[in-house]
Amino acid sequence: MLASELRTRLPSQQPPSRGPLPCAGLQGAGPARCCAGGRRKEETGAAGTCPCVAFQAAMAGTSSELSDSEILQLLEEPARDSPQPGDSGQPNSSSDLPLDSLSTEVAADTAAGQVKRKRAQTPLEKYSLKYLSVTDLSTQSWCEQQMVYGRELPLLQASEKVRLLNTGKSIHLARELEVHDIVEVRTTSKEDSWALKILNLLSMIPVLQAGGCVRELPVFGVIDGIFLVGIIDELCYTAKGELELRELKTRGRPSMPSEAQKKRDYFQVCLYKYIFDAMIQGQLKPDVITRHIRLRPEQPLGSQIRQHAQKVGFVVTCFGDLLELMYLNLTLSDLPSIDRLTIEYSHQDSDTPLGTEVVEFEEEKVRERVQCYLAYWKGQREVQGVEIEEAWKCRSCSYSEICDWRRTRADGPEQRSGLKKSK
Ligand code: SF4
Repeated sequence: MLASELRTRLPSQQPPSRGPLPCAGLQGAGPARCCAGGRRKEETGAAGTCPCVAFQAAMAGTSSELSDSEILQLLEEPARDSPQPGDSGQPNSSSDLPLDSLSTEVAADTAAGQVKRKRAQTPLEKYSLKYLSVTDLSTQSWCEQQMVYGRELPLLQASEKVRLLNTGKSIHLARELEVHDIVEVRTTSKEDSWALKILNLLSMIPVLQAGGCVRELPVFGVIDGIFLVGIIDELCYTAKGELELRELKTRGRPSMPSEAQKKRDYFQVCLYKYIFDAMIQGQLKPDVITRHIRLRPEQPLGSQIRQHAQKVGFVVTCFGDLLELMYLNLTLSDLPSIDRLTIEYSHQDSDTPLGTEVVEFEEEKVRERVQCYLAYWKGQREVQGVEIEEAWKCRSCSYSEICDWRRTRADGPEQRSGLKKSK
């Protein structure tokens, strides 16, 4: 069950550069429209009359590969980085600083007393990020340098890849509509936006408890001090009663992906499991979200959010109410950990299944890889491109003409001696 967010912005703020994900049959739809199984339906003003369940369509990625969760991330990026209603308009933290603030002053003791010195911004600070998505890390696992270029120079991305992303988005949405309807809910604050994500999660827990199947399940968690978000494509039970995560990957070519592409996809689903399991084990305490995202638990929720919460069975007034509900529902739900990870590949144009991979979860390896990637985001090491044995990736890279890493490598591998392999 998922619902899309319609942001209401304060008059002084810039309009969003991209709108919410419209569902099929919702082209041009306003805030009070919903889609029931592809049908278009007007709400009557009282949100309680709408039969639809809500769906959060706000998170996803920017990879040039055909990951559906990456597609969703494209929609989240502008919202994540742009000012939100409820913000003061003034920087309230290091991650709210403007991009042109290129350094941070820190105090240091010297023999002459306390002086201020400057340190370079971490990438998290530079891009004003309070959290990362799972797909940020999975695109990073393909080529970290490419992921950075994708963030800084998205317009250089090959148009063919953009077309494939859009097609993948449509396929993904069609699958969602098979299991739930979509409604747009107006949000008026950062807390409202996160409340919608939490409500979508809360509405899926009873379905899983009853042995049902859910799609687009939001997951949140902290690894190594960094808040991560993601959206699991599908959770279902197998005939043996195992909880199975199913990830759909659509491909432009009618063939299975290379081993390198599979490796990246394996990492992505393992990371989903890592975060989901931590959530149901009680690690997502109410203050985790407010601390990392800098949200106010006392913030009253908007009227449409409260109405929607009521429709899915919750009476809440402020954001903190929802956080408590989320924590209690996750920890008392008795949901099992994810037992099985599968990735289904299909050909975009023909919708032909290409094959299914079963992924082995190795917790220690996943944690090590995440720590390595997060070290870049925390400013603990420089950005890296692909190693020489994966130089073939550069041939199809949209940024090969401008890539410093590639140019340096062409000048001689000894120039990078001392850099550790990370891939
Ligand atoms: Fe990465 Fe190669 Fe592209 Fe540079 S050219 S961003 S190293 S894939």
